[in-house]
Amino acid sequence: MTARPASSPQTEALSRLAESEEKYRRLFEYSEDPMWLILDNKFEICNDAAVSVLGYDTQEELASTHPSALSPPYQADGLDSFSKAEQMMAAALEKGYHRFEWTHRRKDGTDFPVEVTLTAIPYEGRTGIYCIWRDISARKDMEAALVEAKARAEEANLAKSKFLALMSHELRTPLNAVIGFSELLAAEALGPLEGKQQEIVGNIHQGGTILLNLVNDLLDFARIESGQFDMELAEIDVIGAVASSATIVADDAARCDVTIHWDQEGSEPRMARGDRLRLVQSIVNLFSNAIKYNRKGGNIWVSVEAGGAFGGMIVRVRDDGCGIKQERLSQIFDAFERGDQASGTIEGTGLGLNVSKRLLEAMGGDIRVESEPGQGSTFELHLAPANGS
Ligand code: ADP
Repeated sequence: MTARPASSPQTEALSRLAESEEKYRRLFEYSEDPMWLILDNKFEICNDAAVSVLGYDTQEELASTHPSALSPPYQADGLDSFSKAEQMMAAALEKGYHRFEWTHRRKDGTDFPVEVTLTAIPYEGRTGIYCIWRDISARKDMEAALVEAKARAEEANLAKSKFLALMSHELRTPLNAVIGFSELLAAEALGPLEGKQQEIVGNIHQGGTILLNLVNDLLDFARIESGQFDMELAEIDVIGAVASSATIVADDAARCDVTIHWDQEGSEPRMARGDRLRLVQSIVNLFSNAIKYNRKGGNIWVSVEAGGAFGGMIVRVRDDGCGIKQERLSQIFDAFERGDQASGTIEGTGLGLNVSKRLLEAMGGDIRVESEPGQGSTFELHLAPANGS
């Protein structure tokens, strides 16, 4: 036999191979992630991490344990562990790689969830399955805590909405009585009133109306929140809806000395898809805001035109009132959000735009806004086309 020189290419290749094997053996041995190699459905080798995570004392003890003792009889998805293990290994052999969740059982009988990755590898002339897994108890606990927290939050939200709906309902009857009787008094149907008395009755009426609007906003909000909101979608005339809304706010506008410019009164109907009552409610809300957040001698321009984000109609309400700061624009549609008015003297709940936006969305439309502080605001209601489904 001829001795090969120490540095022959074969020797170098062999030593590189030994080096590489040693590297992988060390990676396997010292990894903090549990690993093992399965050959012909039996453990071939396992590492210390697997031994300690499963609560065994030595690799030999773990390797000699029947695999069925390392898992509960059934997995979280209801499959029996034996069949599922067979399925998972078959998937790994077929695709070369397979990842799934599994429940392991420690030596002391306690179960814990893991994420397993199986990789098919050539091993000593055969195909082995290299298995690496990670304890995901912390992740699972967090997921469960999140699901529970969400369920609790939803329950609390529902309880709040029910309470709001009930309270709002109960408050409306006496409020309507206050408003109705103050109207009777103001009309002097129950006898003449002196100047001061007229003023006081006027204040009672105004206060009652503000409260009723607030209660109505709360009631709508509660109904939308609890999903108890009926909407009748049909083909509706947008010009007619704007005209009705303008009539509803006419007295308020006159009292605040704000002029509504509406040139399309009596025009041909312009059809879109929506719920007429709810559209009028939303337009009235835009008008009321354009009046409230305006000044004496201010203006509101309203127009209806075809097109918009949904290809139906746009109702545009522009005012030359106080406007809204850019950084506040995205918040004004949030519930109970009053933007710059939070500390102001103008009455409001911060619910009107939130309710209107949700109404419009339920009709297949949306509300958009642009504003310039000191110059005014433009709100647009975008509606779906009449023939939309
Ligand atoms: P509310 O008027 O009851 O406060 P809204 O939801 O209708 O509630 O409006 C939210 C906020 O948006 C208002 O408090 C106000 O700051 C701002 N806002 C709405 N419309 C206008 C407008 N036309 N001009 C200026 N600010 C407005």
